[in-house]
Amino acid sequence: MKAAIEETFTSLKGRFRGDLLRPHDETYAHARGIWNAMVARTPGLIARCADVADVQAAVRSASAAGALTAVRCGGHSLAGFSTCDGGLVIDLSRMRDVSVDREARRGRFAGGCLLGSIDVATQQDGLVFPSGVVSHTGAAGLVLGGGFGWLTRLHGLSADNVEGFTLVTADGSIVRANGTENVDLFWALRGGGGNFGVVTEFEVKLHPLTSVVLAEALCLGDDISRILQRWRDFMPEAPDKLKWNLNLRIAPDTENVPADVRGRPVASESVLWVGNPEEGRAYLDHVLSLCRPVAVNRTVVSYLALQTMADNEFPHGRRYYTKSGYFKSLDDSSIGQMVQALATVPSPTTQIELAYMGGAAARVAAGETAFGDRSSPFVINLLANWSDASEDAANIAWIRNLFEVLRPSMTPGVYVNFMSGDEDDRVPEAYRERWDRLVEVKSHYDPNNFFRLNQNIPPKTTAAIDGDL
Ligand SMILES: Cc1cc2nc3c(=O)[nH]c(=O)nc-3n(C[C@H](O)[C@H](O)[C@H](O)COP(=O)(O)OP(=O)(O)OC[C@H]3O[C@@H](n4cnc5c(N)ncnc54)[C@H](O)[C@@H]3O)c2cc1C
Repeated sequence: MKAAIEETFTSLKGRFRGDLLRPHDETYAHARGIWNAMVARTPGLIARCADVADVQAAVRSASAAGALTAVRCGGHSLAGFSTCDGGLVIDLSRMRDVSVDREARRGRFAGGCLLGSIDVATQQDGLVFPSGVVSHTGAAGLVLGGGFGWLTRLHGLSADNVEGFTLVTADGSIVRANGTENVDLFWALRGGGGNFGVVTEFEVKLHPLTSVVLAEALCLGDDISRILQRWRDFMPEAPDKLKWNLNLRIAPDTENVPADVRGRPVASESVLWVGNPEEGRAYLDHVLSLCRPVAVNRTVVSYLALQTMADNEFPHGRRYYTKSGYFKSLDDSSIGQMVQALATVPSPTTQIELAYMGGAAARVAAGETAFGDRSSPFVINLLANWSDASEDAANIAWIRNLFEVLRPSMTPGVYVNFMSGDEDDRVPEAYRERWDRLVEVKSHYDPNNFFRLNQNIPPKTTAAIDGDL
């Protein structure tokens, strides 16, 4: 791989307009880090692109040299796919332009944008792009995998709001994919992840919104199971404007948590009303009456405040491990198993995250995009979060054990963006009946599997190349 990287560097040097960083360069140490400290790798070269021509040059040079290549937007891949040992990282962090057409309610953003860069730009015109809940997450990885967030029930997945992609494919060409051009690729890019090329621009629909009503509360003791059951029973009939998430966790030692609750297992509720506060009042009153919550806080918050409120809970540089899945319905026994597991959680910052999809996301037909299962509304993400490497084994084992216990009650399927790096056997499960069509599109646009550091969809001919790595 060393020779391939030297060849790539030599080919790019002198014509690359961005930064070419090698291990001995001063800024390399910072540039190589990604969000999940569990994945600390040492690329041979980081090519921080200044523009699309740089992306094309990097793809062509690495491909010609046979260099293993990772693509990075925000570096938040839980699995750590946006880095590699000894190979090339195509880093898009200098490509963060966003433009908004207020009248048409349309936007364009570059392939290196973070969610926060898009939110700040679109809010200047009172508009939003439905995305995720932590502003330092990269938009490209999130959108290409699907993209859940506060507005999913009202406006669909992030990918459902994309009208066009511009990408650099494995041969270095610039290709557009939308409703009329390269429609198979357009289909595949909405859920199929980074398998098909480097997306340099997304064209998206925007929606008017500047504030929401947010109620937060904690449920303790027997109320934890009770609120999960009531949430399960209530959500199928809930209006799209209501988003109600539950996280099972240890109550943090923070000012907004009563002293006698800190350190105890809780169900942390976040109930969002996206619309006229008066219209939502009765719904929020009802939800908050379903158990005896403590630390209740109900307030109107700006969209930008909403989008940044979880930023500090998931900082860069901690250790993270995840397993995820869907339930068609959530039975009492699974609820009991989650509550029981919480009593032995090894890290106080680990969370069992539960969301109910439904709404606009579920009304998109199964075959319309490559995104996996839309028919199982209960999404679970077991997310371990700790800081000390000596605790890796205990934290990973806790997630794996709980997942194994819950797995028989889950529907087959998984959201690719919530998968770890040790789950490649689950990638076909993520796409199921969409798999063969995805393999066709991959085989056409990336027959040599140049873009392989992702939840990989191997092209039909890849077996021979894998041996050469
Ligand atoms: C703190 C945190 C919060 C999260 N919250 C949410 C959430 O609310 N909703 C949700 O749905 N998901 C969420 N996720 C999961 C998130 O969707 C994935 O981690 C996603 O991969 C992050 O995108 P990124 O661009 O930062 O990733 P990166 O690590 O940069 O890349 C991830 C993958 O995408 C590919 N890729 C990146 N950029 C491009 C590009 N321009 N063109 C082609 N391929 C590209 C990479 O090759 C890699 O395979 C969260 C993750 C974290 C860490």
